[in-house]
Amino acid sequence: MRHIHIIGGGLAGCEAAWQLARRNVECILYEMRPQIMTEAHVTSNLAELVCSNSFRSDDSTANAVGVLHEEMRRCDSLIMKAADTARLPAGSALAVDRHLFSESVEEAITEEKLINLERKEMTLSQLSADANVIIATGPLTSSRLSDEIAILSGRESLAFFDAIAPVVYTESIDFSKAWYQSRYDKNTELNSSGDYINCPLNKKEYDDFIDDLTSQETIEFKSWEKETPYFEGCMPIEEMARRGRETLRFGPMKPVGLTNPHTDEQPHAVVQLRQDNQAASLYNMVGFQTKTRHSNQKQLFRRIPGLENAEFAKLGGAAQKYIY
Ligand SMILES: Cc1cc2nc3c(=O)[nH]c(=O)nc-3n(C[C@H](O)[C@H](O)[C@H](O)COP(=O)(O)OP(=O)(O)OC[C@H]3O[C@@H](n4cnc5c(N)ncnc54)[C@H](O)[C@@H]3O)c2cc1C
Repeated sequence: MRHIHIIGGGLAGCEAAWQLARRNVECILYEMRPQIMTEAHVTSNLAELVCSNSFRSDDSTANAVGVLHEEMRRCDSLIMKAADTARLPAGSALAVDRHLFSESVEEAITEEKLINLERKEMTLSQLSADANVIIATGPLTSSRLSDEIAILSGRESLAFFDAIAPVVYTESIDFSKAWYQSRYDKNTELNSSGDYINCPLNKKEYDDFIDDLTSQETIEFKSWEKETPYFEGCMPIEEMARRGRETLRFGPMKPVGLTNPHTDEQPHAVVQLRQDNQAASLYNMVGFQTKTRHSNQKQLFRRIPGLENAEFAKLGGAAQKYIY
């Protein structure tokens, strides 16, 4: 069989190359970084996770994403193997140390003899018309290739949404108010005391936070974002709060399955933080993507009990864009 061209050395491209090699099929895997960087990647590593370190639920008995994980594991998936190697405590979710994860994928790909890695931007016009090609260039496809895809597939059919949750230094969290617990105590064996850090809000604190959040000035949409509607699965918190006072309490701030050990009660609302690196020195605020101004975010989030003195390694963001 002729070899296969795979454009893009992200999660999808690396998995495709790995699966082909398992079947004795040779491929060329093209990755344009570091020669050409994207707006979000910061390293030259293959399979760099640009945002959340979570692969969502790993529950293969009751969740569709968890079932998909299990199916991939049974197919000897490289991505799942790397994720399991880099796994961090995150309750029933699968979260990873992003650096360990991508290093582990890169090592496996470079050691595999049937995978020929070429570090260059690839476009369809550089390949013969009958070449076997897998396009796996993800949401930040280079502009030359997106132009070609747009012609093939039709304008405005491609869009991406980006959500960045703020990341906090663990040592700056006040544990006289916050506590470790997984929702419904579904811990991983990695952290028996609880995989999430929880910050509780009573009714007044929640109401004040919502008032403050909804009155925040947000970052202007870029010209290329204006025509793109919000993606419901990836909405900024202030936009959720504007849809109704209780929306966040039924979304990222839901308190169910959690008991505050300082009061022995279920809080009115909760902010959950998930481990972000293997050293457990960083935790991200789950579901707290936001378009509020960076200059205001620290003050806003320091209103949350337990985060009064929080130091931030990264502030939140949200963007959306038609690729073409
Ligand atoms: C800012 C941002 C935030 C995101 N947040 C999340 C999130 O929180 N959760 C989530 O599940 N998903 C998120 N995503 C989507 C995320 O990108 C995907 O989940 C995942 O990375 C998709 O894997 P992929 O292999 O399709 O693409 P990628 O991992 O992006 O890999 C594509 C690769 O192709 C390369 N490439 C592009 N064009 C060319 C070319 N012409 N020639 C050669 N190489 C090329 C790129 O450099 C890149 O390495 C986010 C995406 C962005 C951009």
